[in-house]
Amino acid sequence: MRKAVITGRQQGGAIDVPTPTAKEDWVLVKVHTAPLCTEYKSFLSGEPSAFLGHEAAGEVVEVAQPGRWQVGDRVVVMPQNPCGICPLCLAGDYIHCQDGVDFAAFHGSNEGRATMAQYLLKQGRQLVPIPDGMSYDHAAMACCGLGPTFGALERVSAGVLDTILITGLGPVGLGGVINATYRGARVIGVESNPWRAERARELGAEAVIDPTADNALEQILAHTHAGRGVDHAIDCSGVAPAHRLCIDATRRKGTVSFVGESGRNPTELFVSGDMIRKGLTLHGSWHYNLADTPHILRVIAANGDKIDRLISHRFALDDVQAAWETQVNGQCAKMLLKPWEPNR
Ligand SMILES: [Zn+2]
Ligand SMILES: [Zn+2]
Repeated sequence: MRKAVITGRQQGGAIDVPTPTAKEDWVLVKVHTAPLCTEYKSFLSGEPSAFLGHEAAGEVVEVAQPGRWQVGDRVVVMPQNPCGICPLCLAGDYIHCQDGVDFAAFHGSNEGRATMAQYLLKQGRQLVPIPDGMSYDHAAMACCGLGPTFGALERVSAGVLDTILITGLGPVGLGGVINATYRGARVIGVESNPWRAERARELGAEAVIDPTADNALEQILAHTHAGRGVDHAIDCSGVAPAHRLCIDATRRKGTVSFVGESGRNPTELFVSGDMIRKGLTLHGSWHYNLADTPHILRVIAANGDKIDRLISHRFALDDVQAAWETQVNGQCAKMLLKPWEPNR
């Protein structure tokens, strides 16, 4: 099979590797869509990587034993290979599992672990059925396209009375605009990239504020009830100034969800002013609970036109170099790799 690799600084491509085979309750999935996510960071830094991607939708093509899946079933592939039996896994919060399965030890090789490939091997319990009539491309938005912000909005029970701030309108933040507007909430976005700001307005953001403006905070507050601040803020940028903006722009007793990864970069927090006196609830939100998969698929089904705007580009697997170059220039929303489509 073909799969994507990063070989050096801004150097990527596709190579041939052995196709994995189904084993025990792990099934073989033919990948029809593999959304691009954070892999471009390795493409930029030049860190070689042969196992790329954690998002996919595809078709079950081989099973090793009778189970819940049959050849021909259409599935969304959930990330990671969690243990399935710890309290977090049993509660559906598998994303936080500390006892994940060692793929190479189980399979004898890491081949089949990556989603940016023609086939992958996956535990049956990490697959979700795609509703009839929904395309693989749309269903794949149940991964990081809509997933992280769905989890954050679900956690705060965001609804029609809420004004929601979303900082960072890359693919994850744009997915947040879809999730929040579907719930009837007003959305104020923060983004300096004009292409992405425009896309956010198309998806339903009421206003998009440029964070480089001196009065960005005042501009946000001007859109909120009595200027008191938004009800919930979600940071999808992962940068400290945006974290600060979320905290400062949220009303007393509001909530702030940190979704964008920030590595080991610190963010200044004033426990007294921000949390005790202001009464904010601050939390991190990585993904969403497995039990919510039917709900997120309903969001996708109900927002077909917006999902078509969220997906900005499709590339063949062998064109992955061009895909990453496009992703790096920032003139894009969610991008898809298509492992079975011919090159341009
Ligand atoms: Zn677990
Ligand atoms: Zn992702």
